[in-house]
Amino acid sequence: MGNMQQQFENLTASSLYCDKCKTAMPVRERLLLILPDKEIFDYLCTGCGSSVGQREVTAGEKLMAQSTARRPRRARVAHPLLP
Ligand SMILES: [Zn+2]
Repeated sequence: MGNMQQQFENLTASSLYCDKCKTAMPVRERLLLILPDKEIFDYLCTGCGSSVGQREVTAGEKLMAQSTARRPRRARVAHPLLP
């Protein structure tokens, strides 16, 4: 029905080319995957909802963003717990 989508959320103010819409469309960012050393964001076309791109945020970037007292993390040595 007449569901007006007037949600001005925190759109990353970026447009990416969408193959389906055949034009540059505003995208919304979605957290796709969390890895130990990085997070992967998916960019979804606001027009058709398909994925038009991805972005990786590495742990380094996050650390810079947090900018807490940085302790040098020792490289983890894999200790085999199994006998
Ligand atoms: Zn689209």
